[in-house]
Amino acid sequence: MKRRPLPTRGRPMADVLDDLKEFGSDDPDYKNGRLWSLVYYLDDDYTDFLNQAYGSFSSANGLNPTAFKSLKRFENDIIAATAENLHGTPDVCGVVTSGGTESCLLAVKTYRDLARATRRVTKPEMVLPVTAHVAWFKASEYFGVKVRLLPLDKQMRADVRKLRGLVNRNTVMILGSAPEYPHGTIDPIEEFGEIAQKRGVPLHVDACVGGFILPFMEMNGRKLPLWDYRVPGVTSISADIHKYGFAAKGASTITYRNLDLLKHQMFVYQDWPGGVFASPALLGTRPGGAYAAAWAAMQHMGKSGYRDLARRTCKAFDQMRAGIAKIPELYVMGEPSGPLLGYGSRDKDVNIYAVGDQMDAKGWTINRLQNPDGLHAMITAQHDQVMADYLRDLKASVATVKAHPELAQAGSAATYGMMSHIPMRGMVKQKVLDMFATMYQAGGAEMDLHHGAEAAGQPTSLVDRIALWYVTRKQRNQS
Ligand SMILES: *Cc1c(COP(=O)(O)O)cnc(C)c1O
Repeated sequence: MKRRPLPTRGRPMADVLDDLKEFGSDDPDYKNGRLWSLVYYLDDDYTDFLNQAYGSFSSANGLNPTAFKSLKRFENDIIAATAENLHGTPDVCGVVTSGGTESCLLAVKTYRDLARATRRVTKPEMVLPVTAHVAWFKASEYFGVKVRLLPLDKQMRADVRKLRGLVNRNTVMILGSAPEYPHGTIDPIEEFGEIAQKRGVPLHVDACVGGFILPFMEMNGRKLPLWDYRVPGVTSISADIHKYGFAAKGASTITYRNLDLLKHQMFVYQDWPGGVFASPALLGTRPGGAYAAAWAAMQHMGKSGYRDLARRTCKAFDQMRAGIAKIPELYVMGEPSGPLLGYGSRDKDVNIYAVGDQMDAKGWTINRLQNPDGLHAMITAQHDQVMADYLRDLKASVATVKAHPELAQAGSAATYGMMSHIPMRGMVKQKVLDMFATMYQAGGAEMDLHHGAEAAGQPTSLVDRIALWYVTRKQRNQS
């Protein structure tokens, strides 16, 4: 791809818009259901509708909620509807954020400050199941809240029997997910809630991925464990509108059971020469377009639209789960409630990462899991149409890998296998950091998602580079 520095003389709008198309030409093919993460897509008409909504407020700024009354009205409607979906009482309150990560970061900040103010906790800790989204580990680093990891049991569910032992005087919050991202399992929130209430510790439910689909699955008659405000111990919930709410990117929610909790999220500085300042969330300038598009998505969908999407998603999810279960070499991880799942190999001759390589070669874009090794699928309504193709290709891929076990030593299978099993995790972290950072140096390197070609004698994917580093290091140590 040709680089485009800031031109000395500006270019016509039409030229620039043409360039945009070219930039996107080797992006993942999400419009035809080949991508199993990152994008929630319906069709071009719907995308145009979101763009119109976004465009009409793309200059509006939610920084000061008293300036653009429109944005505060969008926010009020969004929060009220979200709270209703989550079976909240009228006391439930909250904020629209820029995404799931912002919502998760805010919960940690809120509960750290709550514990500091009400219990004088100075060495804050939180309990996270190992399957908690990475955003929570990011929050731990950003806000100095130590993680106590809750392991999984044999069924790959968060082991609630071990929770009690991890809560202590410094615990500022407990986290559960509905569902967790790696395997799509809903954590045992009711059991978490009992312990949380007994110990007087807040319980946040991360429903970033589930918040805009689980309620509609339940309305459709699906039996699910309770995980929302109906569970007495639950004090807050994050739910992304830009995932299963089908909003434009940049919209999530965090709601709290009452204002006394939410107040600890807010920031006020009364002595700034720029004026008295109050802010409810992380961002300063808040993108008006994202609010408008989120509001528009929810109004257009309504309960009927979301229920229909949930029905189609569940159909595809059930088909995938059953299809994988029918392939004897594979197993579905844990107890996924949908809409996502992970699967692995139970046949020592079938390397699951090699299966992933075969699937990639057939034009799918599939995420890898580790601990244990596996592949991942985030299923949307759109995937209903490609599920038969997917399962056919998956079966063929398993057969190919079984017939050619040496594929485990080739392509990205070799490197993923190595990367997830290198024992020195601290060094892996440092190495990933060093290599990842090169993408951000001036004129930064481009990297491939999985296995890529070589450029200038260097592999072009991050995992390949880590593997190369590790092999070289081992050879050096042996000689
Ligand atoms: C996606 C996700 C997040 C993070 O959301 P972003 O919008 O990607 O920042 C957090 N938790 C869970 C469970 C998620 O699936």
